[in-house]
Amino acid sequence: AFAPSQRIRAIGVSEILRITDHANALRRAGRPVIVLGAGEPDFETPEHIRAAATRAIARGETRYTVLDGSNEMKTAVRHKFQRDNALDYALDEISVSAGAKQVIFNALMASLEPGDEVILPAPYWTSYADIVRICGGVPVVLPCSEARGFRLDAGQLDAAITPRTRWVFLNSPSNPSGTAYSAAQLRPLTEVLLRHPQVWLLADDIYEHILYDGLAFATPAAVEPGLRERTLTVNGVSKAYAMTGWRIGYGAGPRDLIAAMAVVQSQSTSCPSSVSQAAAIEALTGSQALIGARRADFEARRDVVVEALNAIRGLHCRRPEGAFYTYASCAGVLGRSTRRGMRLQTDADFCRYLLEDFEVAVVPGSVFGLAPYFRISYATSMAQLQEACARISAACAALE
Ligand code: PLP
Repeated sequence: AFAPSQRIRAIGVSEILRITDHANALRRAGRPVIVLGAGEPDFETPEHIRAAATRAIARGETRYTVLDGSNEMKTAVRHKFQRDNALDYALDEISVSAGAKQVIFNALMASLEPGDEVILPAPYWTSYADIVRICGGVPVVLPCSEARGFRLDAGQLDAAITPRTRWVFLNSPSNPSGTAYSAAQLRPLTEVLLRHPQVWLLADDIYEHILYDGLAFATPAAVEPGLRERTLTVNGVSKAYAMTGWRIGYGAGPRDLIAAMAVVQSQSTSCPSSVSQAAAIEALTGSQALIGARRADFEARRDVVVEALNAIRGLHCRRPEGAFYTYASCAGVLGRSTRRGMRLQTDADFCRYLLEDFEVAVVPGSVFGLAPYFRISYATSMAQLQEACARISAACAALE
């Protein structure tokens, strides 16, 4: 019989996938389930981007490219960092992969020794912890309280750093909390890191363009140039341009790190898809007009969902600055019982109740390292969101 490796045995099957499977099974049984779990925009890749891919196919751009991205692709990334972030990277300080996820994987594979620690402020994107484990590292989870806007506190960071700390991850705007850091809010953290020269910083900026209320986006390497030599800034086209299926992400950092990441990539995927690179070049260099329109759509949905959740007794929800998620507390309904006699003890119980009895699929906070909360992805239509919030309200009202 097959036995998975030690490395893989430690990793559970993704809870989000499990919930999605459960929701799909209920759907197949004819139940009108609304799934608010998806981590991808609900609109199509813009036409001009798709057309660039078609042209690349017609030109015969169907072969291996440079292993961590064609020169044209890296040049587009270089210009993007100059234009949007006032960061200047040479082409050999840029790496392009099959999604931001592969960039992160390559970076950890290229840098972690067994037992090295990676600091993850919670709530965090679930994949971080599992990638750390697959690469032999140890996730060090730092809970960030809602009272502090789910932001990492500088003293808390300082206290968590040990001689084994290799990386600190920052993700702004955040999946799952939607919290963003301003430049002023990043500075106390970058000051701590300046004092610990063995620690590297991974800044996951994938939700950069989904930021509301006119806030200005800030990224650590630009806020504190003193950290540039040990920061990997990660970004990609998945969320900003609705290109999740094209699989293009990129990172910029010191050339020795980038070169080591290229070694990992050379023995896994060889290079990112040539056709997807052509599409991503168009995304990064073509018209950016759609970004503003989509942001306005998402912002309107955020407002509706936050208001609806805060009107429900037992729930409350911070108003997130960005991304397309809300992270609401369900502490106020725990301890109560459903009409079918189930006593809700955890956020996972609450989410199961919402799915089984009220046909709304959301993800429990325990998955993201901070309970008791639940994440709603509002990358779906306003009508679906309103219906889902009405069901969640009915579910809470029905508790005894
Ligand atoms: N980082 C965060 C915080 C995410 O939420 C996601 C996707 O869900 C990614 C990175 C990965 O994006 P991709 O691999 O599609 O570029």
